[in-house]
Amino acid sequence: MPATPAWPPRSAPRLFVVPELAEGAMVTLEGNPAHYLARVMRVAAGDTVILCDDITGEWAAEVAYAGKRHVEVRVIRQMRGREHVPDFWLCPALIKRDRFYMVLEKATELGAARIVPVITRRSVVDKLNLERAQTVVVEAAEQCARTALPDLAAPAPLDRLLRDWPAGRLLFFADEQGGAPVGDALRESEMAAILVGPEGGFDDAERAAIRQLPQARPISLGPSILRAETAALAATALFMALAGDWRG
Ligand code: SAH
Repeated sequence: MPATPAWPPRSAPRLFVVPELAEGAMVTLEGNPAHYLARVMRVAAGDTVILCDDITGEWAAEVAYAGKRHVEVRVIRQMRGREHVPDFWLCPALIKRDRFYMVLEKATELGAARIVPVITRRSVVDKLNLERAQTVVVEAAEQCARTALPDLAAPAPLDRLLRDWPAGRLLFFADEQGGAPVGDALRESEMAAILVGPEGGFDDAERAAIRQLPQARPISLGPSILRAETAALAATALFMALAGDWRG
């Protein structure tokens, strides 16, 4: 069936699935994906759904069977390849759960390639439900029709993050005590990362350790002390505008 403006319908449900997709493949969905399609979206045989596998890209598929416990779909044709996202990492210190989930959701929408949660001395929270966090990321990507998921790492203590920091990647360190104007610093920095502290900020020893990293570049996000989640998302948006995929 040729792709026409009317097909597949924009309203077609969109899901990330595990198997690598290919034309003609039959995919059996169980658990939450099956529940979403059968019970929430009430799909029936013959309906169209959009599947992404975070490898080959986005495919139109047709529901072959919709039951209470599983849904079978037949992959029909590829619509888009997996998109290229800027080589940008967001390293946000863990903060209170709901606010952190909001950071994950917005960083996914904005196109972060990798998200590395950081455990710091003043982190109020030092654990992350990775399964729930991954669901937040997948749902954010589905909702904004991205074909690529950010790689969500397990939380890393700050000292380990710095010890293992990759040689060729700049680490822009959002420092409320001062740094380069972010507009100047982020421009044209292809392989980059932004590190943001927790609600209570970094302590002096942490700040010194970060600044000792050769790849570290302290940046200022203006004269006000922003909430951690505001700083993380504002800095990510600025990166996309100055060095990411908002440059057209
Ligand atoms: N220690 C601060 C609060 C930290 S704000 C205080 O109470 O005074 C949380 C994090 O957001 C900071 O660690 C920093 O990474 C970032 N941040 C907030 N405002 C910023 C600014 N104006 N410039 C750079 N980073 C900022």
